[in-house]
Amino acid sequence: MTEKTQKTYSKIKLTSSNYYSNEANWQYQSVSIFKNFMKCEAAALAELKGEWQPERDQTPLLVGNYLHSYFESKEAHQDFLNEHGTEILAQAGKNKGKPKKDYQVGDAMIKSLADDETFVNLYQGQKEVIVKGQIDGINWMGKLDCFPDNHKYFADLKTTQDLHKKYWLSDQSRYGTFIEAYDYPIQMAVYQELIRQQYGAEATPLIVAVTKQDPPDKAIISIEQPILDFWLEQVKEMQGHIQAVKNGEAVPTHCGHCDYCRATKKLTGVVDMQTLLIS
Ligand SMILES: [Zn+2]
Repeated sequence: MTEKTQKTYSKIKLTSSNYYSNEANWQYQSVSIFKNFMKCEAAALAELKGEWQPERDQTPLLVGNYLHSYFESKEAHQDFLNEHGTEILAQAGKNKGKPKKDYQVGDAMIKSLADDETFVNLYQGQKEVIVKGQIDGINWMGKLDCFPDNHKYFADLKTTQDLHKKYWLSDQSRYGTFIEAYDYPIQMAVYQELIRQQYGAEATPLIVAVTKQDPPDKAIISIEQPILDFWLEQVKEMQGHIQAVKNGEAVPTHCGHCDYCRATKKLTGVVDMQTLLIS
């Protein structure tokens, strides 16, 4: 198989219709792909090349998109409903024709925010705004859920299980919030930098989190600037190697225990019992 690299694609103009395309992912670094590379370079590269498709439950993603489209515009939400109607509505059983449980939860999350004056006032401005720029010479792209005209902040909608749930952060040997567990500070730091470059503005990232609990909990959450600055520096440190892996100039490392690594594993000999608890 020929090596697919950035160079094989002619330069595209980023739009909402090609933002999530494979082509865009080869030409621009995005936070979601970058996080894939942080988890396992071998798996991320194989997925980018179309050689491997991870088994992911698409429902949480779709429910998230359902919520996002509602707050984007009436047209966007209608488009989502037209496209995913059969996924949203139960096709059989006593609830046939009604939204499935996950989407009933989605409706409760939407209502919780839509009825909240503080949220409604905050979530004003342009929606789904594509931002792009270069971080130390590497092309990056991002998409802002909501960017007000004064450019003072940007808001990102997140759904989560419980605002106060503690997650074990194995690399730091401590518990952290869902925000740290899902590496949202990286996303916020990169988006803040892309806004800095494109608009010359220092925008404060705000995470609007709403939970899948019944009834839903919600919060508008900020991240201290030194933490954002730290993560932007981390991105600068990590991105060169990741780019080299994408370009076929560096060998991807295998994390050794993700789905991809297990699926492609070949035994190479005997390992000592004590090594099983390391990483
Ligand atoms: Zn792996």
